[in-house]
Amino acid sequence: QTGITEDAHRTWELDRKHVFHSWSAQDSINPMVVTAAQGSYLWAGEGKKYLDFSSQLVNTNIGHQHPAVVAAIAAQATTLCTIAPSYANAARSEAARLIAERTPGELDRIFFTNGGADANEHAVRMARLHTGKHKVLSAYRSYHGGTQLAINMTGDPRRWPSDNASTGTVHFFPPYLYRTAFHATTEEEECQRALEHLDQLIALEGPATIAALILESIPGTAGIQVPPPGYLQGVRELCTKYGIVFIADEVMAGFGRTGKWFAVDHFDVVPDLLTFAKGVNSGYVPLGGVAISPAIAATFGSRVYPGGLTYSGHPLATAAAVATINAMEDEGIVGHAATLGESVIGPALRGFAERHRSVGEVRGTGVFWAIELVKDRQTREPLAPYGGSSPEMGQIVAAAKEKGLITFTNLNRIHVVPPCNISVEDASLGLGILDDVLAIADALIA
Ligand code: PLP
Repeated sequence: QTGITEDAHRTWELDRKHVFHSWSAQDSINPMVVTAAQGSYLWAGEGKKYLDFSSQLVNTNIGHQHPAVVAAIAAQATTLCTIAPSYANAARSEAARLIAERTPGELDRIFFTNGGADANEHAVRMARLHTGKHKVLSAYRSYHGGTQLAINMTGDPRRWPSDNASTGTVHFFPPYLYRTAFHATTEEEECQRALEHLDQLIALEGPATIAALILESIPGTAGIQVPPPGYLQGVRELCTKYGIVFIADEVMAGFGRTGKWFAVDHFDVVPDLLTFAKGVNSGYVPLGGVAISPAIAATFGSRVYPGGLTYSGHPLATAAAVATINAMEDEGIVGHAATLGESVIGPALRGFAERHRSVGEVRGTGVFWAIELVKDRQTREPLAPYGGSSPEMGQIVAAAKEKGLITFTNLNRIHVVPPCNISVEDASLGLGILDDVLAIADALIA
């Protein structure tokens, strides 16, 4: 790399020599060296400041280096850095209380994991043991994590290299009106037909074989397709009718991202299990978990739950969660995310959709939005093929970066997912850069 300090260059060289990166061909990557981060900003090795519209992997919900959370981690480190899960610990107990008080319904028991994938793995294990059944239904265009079962439940191209039918996973089509699988022309039709499809799929797979259905309440990486009114209620009813455990994956959508504590809160739906990670402590220390219904918790009242982790409810991670949730509450961060979506991001994105012919659709809520880019608005041909990227998308990401904006992109989409507490000024700054970048995209498809 050129133009970076000697220290940063050494970091980069050691990385290239010794670090094996996720989801990458190792020879073709060129990681940006980050030397500092604060709030919604990052500083790179060459000293350049970037506005982070990605919240990293959509996890820094309260931005970088929040002083209350940093202080809580430091304080916890001075008293007790680690303790086995079999002991009770103040940070873990308090984090469990704060989470249980915010999860919907009576999801009041919390099993802590290290992240989202293992939260989903454990949720399915609980569902299988609770129901005595095996199969798991999950949606196409979803992501549930990188471990064996979680990647098989995933409905995006990252599943293909690890596909393994023995995991008992079956996929269904969720609602997605812009690219409807049901020839629908309205949200109502899409909702009704998606539910009919799911009902049929359950009948043909055999309700007596299905333990669980896992669904991102609002899909994240797969494209932020906010479900139409009635869809999640319909899924809840089908699960109840057929004795299927409904798992809401809130790993990306939870903890304020959608303008409510959890995305299911938009739809008044209570799942049987709710999985979380990322925003629970903004990712300052790895943490995830499962919020468990009384009925499923009762299954493991006198029967042993056959699962655990060395770091379940790790003190540093749960102390960070306590401080994060308290800061979100004290600073009104969830309400701020809702307002940003309604008054700043939503209106700006709808303006982009009117002005930029490369924009096929915009959708989202809170600080959880996607801009779907197309080559042609009539045919809706995506700017990158399903399962791949394209030179155009590469140029768009590079143009944003050149202008000081870090974006979260997937296939043919740019996601607008800044921290939930980004200021209106910074949000507007980033949106202004995106406006310029979309003008470049328009020219690319001219
Ligand atoms: N579920 C969803 C919806 C996610 O977005 C992710 C990660 O992006 C995961 C699960 C997996 O979480 P982790 O990477 O912490 O294992």
